[in-house]
Amino acid sequence: MPASASANIGVVGLAVMGSNLARNLASREGNTVAVFNRSPERTRTLVDEHPEAGFVASESYDDFVASLAKPRTAIIMVQAGKGTDAVISELASRFEPGDIIVDGGNANFHDTIRREAEISPTGIHFVGTGISGGEEGALNGPSIMPGGSAESYETLGPILASIAAIAEGEPCVTHVGTDGAGHFVKMVHNGIEYADMQLIAEAYDLIRQGTGKSPAEIADIFAEWNTGELESYLIEITAEVLRQVDAATGQPLVDVILDEAGAKGTGAWTVQNALDLGVPTSGIAEAVFARSLSSKRAQREASVDLPGPSTTWAVDAADADAFIEDVRQALYASKIIAYSQGFDEIIAGAEQFGWDVKKGDIAKIWRAGCIIRARFLNRIAEAYADDPSLVVLVVAPYFRDAVAGAQESWRRVVAASAASGIPTPAFSSSLAYYDGLRAPRLPAALVQGQRDFFGAHTYKRVDKPGVFHTLWSGDRSEIETTPSSH
Ligand code: NAP
Repeated sequence: MPASASANIGVVGLAVMGSNLARNLASREGNTVAVFNRSPERTRTLVDEHPEAGFVASESYDDFVASLAKPRTAIIMVQAGKGTDAVISELASRFEPGDIIVDGGNANFHDTIRREAEISPTGIHFVGTGISGGEEGALNGPSIMPGGSAESYETLGPILASIAAIAEGEPCVTHVGTDGAGHFVKMVHNGIEYADMQLIAEAYDLIRQGTGKSPAEIADIFAEWNTGELESYLIEITAEVLRQVDAATGQPLVDVILDEAGAKGTGAWTVQNALDLGVPTSGIAEAVFARSLSSKRAQREASVDLPGPSTTWAVDAADADAFIEDVRQALYASKIIAYSQGFDEIIAGAEQFGWDVKKGDIAKIWRAGCIIRARFLNRIAEAYADDPSLVVLVVAPYFRDAVAGAQESWRRVVAASAASGIPTPAFSSSLAYYDGLRAPRLPAALVQGQRDFFGAHTYKRVDKPGVFHTLWSGDRSEIETTPSSH
């Protein structure tokens, strides 16, 4: 049992994420890592398997807290929800003012705001921290999104920087903002991840159904795409997945995997909060719904005989390369929209919750370590550096040019998918969003007329200020009014 307060950092929760994070911490110069898990077997296994880490192991909360040097700093990596609350309560009852409790799990940011509000009066810092990169990232360098107080970041920042992924010489960690900001940004990261994955899946589906290429051939196409502007972790692993052959059947593995996509909930949170904030994150929403639809087995089976296009679709062999290039362009344009929508949600969340989020810094910490790491995040960082008050990412010069170059391809791909009956919810909704953004006039005027007709909800006019209501059922004259009077 630990005798003295020798560890500068502790980890509670030693399942896959916690044990990998603890090993990552221990591998960095200057860190002595205390470890604790509710079931002591996990602790013993970790310590036995990794003597090189020099872990300071405890089998009780009292010993764990005693093993930490002041200010005590402990990272919780346990099951989100009740497990996290239980561990916080154990630590908070033993910690002192100035000590730091870090929740590195996938908490809902509303819970993080609540927990911070409950703990901060005690003088203990509570830091909700998004950690992305899965188990491999936890071990070798994740992207880290800490919230909490600026004061706590002075102690915590260097420790997190020591284990974070490195992108172009910079550690992928930044103080995102106060209380729940870190978990909010991690949530949006995951929402963008859903959109990116769905877009890639739609690109694969179109190429396969349109050209008849095999998964291995499409793997080569993705590998080629990964050398250009689409270069990203998700494109890279897509090529790997498509190349994989099932050992039992000899079939491409992708053909053996049941076509029902699971979800753990952070994509749904992103969309729920986007709805609350009034931010149109349609690409992310369609990606979440596409997973839901895939899992509606009974509805899908009941619908397989519903009529589709009368002709079967095939791209002429001579046009295949041009079609594949169209799909690549459509993917890039749609991906720009997904990230643009995600950053819109971050901006709206920051406004709503009073966080000073630096958008360019978020793009930078996502360049390595996390699942959505991609070459073009540098472009996003540059766009916000050039214009910190950019109203929407897609109008930044680089992205405007990229979409301008891609849009004809994008339209052809969406038109082909509609004509051929191949579902492309993320491609199609991204294009509809783009056209909605650039439309000088939207049919929202008619919607306002309808709303005023049935609910006297009033409307504004294009030619004079004020708020108006038409007396629809009477003489149809218009009266100037205020929204609250109806
Ligand atoms: P997990 O399966 O989510 O949780 C298991 C761990 O939680 C075990 O250490 C377990 O202790 C502990 N635990 C559960 N309830 C507890 C309680 N009431 N008191 C104390 N400990 C309790 O583990 P994980 O996959 O390593 O993930 C850890 C956290 O990281 C989660 O919040 C997860 O969402 C987040 N995360 C995961 C990934 C990933 O790729 N897996 C990526 C990013 C973030 P026992 O051993 O005693 O049961």
